Amino acid sequence: MMFFSTRIKKPCSIGYPPKYLPTIQTDLLVIGAGLAGLTVALKVAENRKVIVLAKRELTEAATAWAQGGIVGVLDEKDSYESHVADTLEAGAGLVSEATARYITENSQQAIQWLVDQDVEFTQDPEGPLGLHLTREGGHTHRRIAHAADATGKVIHTALLEKAKAHPNIQLLENWVAIDLITTHNLKDNLNKDYQKSVRKDRCYGVYALNIVRDEVLAITGNDVVVSTGGVGQVYRYTSNPATSTGDGIAMAYRAGCRVGNMEFIQFHPTCLYHPKERSFLITEALRGEGAHLKLPNGYRFMTDHDERLELAPRDIVARSIDYEIKKHGIDYVLLDGTHLGVDFLKKHFPTIYARCLAVGIDITKQGIPVVPAAHYTCGGVITDLHGQTDLPHLYSAGEATYTGLHGANRLASNSLLECVVTGTAAADKILEQDIMPIPEVHPWDDSQFEGDDEQELIALNWDELRSLMWNYVGIVRTTKRLERALHRIELLKQEVQNYFPNFRVNRDLIELRNLIVCAELIVRSALERKESRGLHYCLDYPQTFAMSDPTIITPKR
Ligand SMILES: Cc1cc2nc3c(=O)[nH]c(=O)nc-3n(C[C@H](O)[C@H](O)[C@H](O)COP(=O)(O)OP(=O)(O)OC[C@H]3O[C@@H](n4cnc5c(N)ncnc54)[C@H](O)[C@@H]3O)c2cc1C
Repeated sequence: MMFFSTRIKKPCSIGYPPKYLPTIQTDLLVIGAGLAGLTVALKVAENRKVIVLAKRELTEAATAWAQGGIVGVLDEKDSYESHVADTLEAGAGLVSEATARYITENSQQAIQWLVDQDVEFTQDPEGPLGLHLTREGGHTHRRIAHAADATGKVIHTALLEKAKAHPNIQLLENWVAIDLITTHNLKDNLNKDYQKSVRKDRCYGVYALNIVRDEVLAITGNDVVVSTGGVGQVYRYTSNPATSTGDGIAMAYRAGCRVGNMEFIQFHPTCLYHPKERSFLITEALRGEGAHLKLPNGYRFMTDHDERLELAPRDIVARSIDYEIKKHGIDYVLLDGTHLGVDFLKKHFPTIYARCLAVGIDITKQGIPVVPAAHYTCGGVITDLHGQTDLPHLYSAGEATYTGLHGANRLASNSLLECVVTGTAAADKILEQDIMPIPEVHPWDDSQFEGDDEQELIALNWDELRSLMWNYVGIVRTTKRLERALHRIELLKQEVQNYFPNFRVNRDLIELRNLIVCAELIVRSALERKESRGLHYCLDYPQTFAMSDPTIITPKR
């Protein structure tokens, strides 16, 4: 049974004359304007009309926050085999080798396409394609194309410019997709011949809230792409932007699509702990340059956890910090680089210095309060290599998906590459489809709307959900904690289910509803895995089986 049903009883009261159906039509509807969505849009727009939705400003997306770079197997000393081997190693036995091979074999084409879109990567006249390649943890070769330390922003800005200038692309910001439109939402007076031809359920579009006009419209398209990013916001601390609330994963799941590997959430070890700055990453380079992790009493606790100390792999450092925070009942630990010297810190870490100073922390004089933060969602909507989901005419690409590339842990800089390669493949597949007339759909129904007095409740539920996910479903898990979390999530789900039909939808409510779906998927997936593997660490099942399968959750309908 689906978690929520779309309300389709009466025409919606949004100020249109009753006979006029407030529906926008296009050939391709892309939900999400990050790297994945923009790739599909730009490729398909060569032949078709495309609408792209972004739920906040167009510039807000995880893509714009990516720092390190994007994998490109370009160097003659490098090889596809080597990149596949590194991806398999990082993914701890759960990577689909066929997917990893497909992605790597298309990496050169992907980077070349970005260069053709005027993305200004850092240059090296002697490098392959004239690019400077850097190396990151887990990679055995230099294969990371980058634009200094702001790769995502440079890529995103270039692609947005191209999309804005494209005559076939309409970019709509501050539009929040609520629910996918499927056969279930078609009007009763369907053309009977067409009805006969619709044997299977399929996707026709989406109901979306226009934040500025505060109204919900149906937007229909021959094909729909969910490229809404990950779900980092389900945790109290996250490196992700406010847009990462798992909307696409939840929408696709509600519409009948399977999701995979949701228990594998990658945590970054060091995010600034401050009430006003919940999403600011403190780069690993600071530890690389010799900063120490300490308890508030000054004790350098990594000596108790790993002989590599602060330079142990990301998951070990994150787990150690989590352990110390829970053991001592403290809110954060300190990342202390004061011994590196004022000039060194200001010269090598100018952004961190300025950002911390802005909230009253002088990193040349004191340790930086840090906590681990949810960073990357390895699981998501199950797709094939062309981005096709279980629902015909619904595609998905980017961090919202599960393609099998990341397995139980993501290799650095593979995610941006996945966005371009699967986005391109989805576009190719979409262009193969004939365009069919879209039947009339029911407008959104807000007839049961009663009042706006529940806003405070929504905020409280947000906080409760993020805290319980942080405390019970974080880096180190136990069956008991997961079960408790599930119980509380079910109560929250019930509460939201009760007031969703009576409450005029707004962004907070839509996101809360989706966060709850994703939280449930994460917990249920974690409970299904009776071992510890990659990013999923459970004290009750510390062993890793010799072989394992991805965790797949199928919606009940
Ligand atoms: C701090 C940070 C650093 C990173 N560094 C790297 C790196 O160096 N290399 C690397 O490969 N990866 C990196 N990543 C991961 C990478 O940035 C993301 O995985 C990738 O950008 C995701 O792209 P996307 O297109 O799938 O989603 P996003 O870029 O997150 O875009 C999502 C889009 O969907 C829209 N959206 C969401 N919900 C709705 C809705 N309901 N209705 C309408 N629109 C909606 C949003 O508005 C946004 O436009 C980093 C991530 C972070 C947070």
